Amino acid sequence: MFCRKCGKEIGDAAFCPFCGHPSKDEVEVIDPANSEAKKEEVKKNDEDKASGWWGVLCFFVPIVGLILFLVWMDDKPKTAKKCGIGALISVILGVVLAVVYFILIFIFGPAIFHSIGINVDVSGMVH
Ligand SMILES: [Zn+2]
Repeated sequence: MFCRKCGKEIGDAAFCPFCGHPSKDEVEVIDPANSEAKKEEVKKNDEDKASGWWGVLCFFVPIVGLILFLVWMDDKPKTAKKCGIGALISVILGVVLAVVYFILIFIFGPAIFHSIGINVDVSGMVH
């Protein structure tokens, strides 16, 4: 005999030793708790539509993204992921912009100071 739930060979056992499912027909009742849990699962998936707007919001406010990511990690994994990615991209972009900013200062900084120096010299000659 095979278990009708998990399909494993269970011999003549009244209950499947692998998943605990009863092997007899008369005990085959729809488990209300199980179907309720399934409904809950569907509802949860329905709510967790992972709207792209959350990613956009978390991109502009990365700290909110981080908080939402931690809060929703269990309940809405898809939405939480969007928030996490949005916040992550925002942080990475911020770091990249900061690096570019410092590179520009490093490259053009001396030229700016040099030009200021020349101006000072010129004004010094005038006086
Ligand atoms: Zn089974």
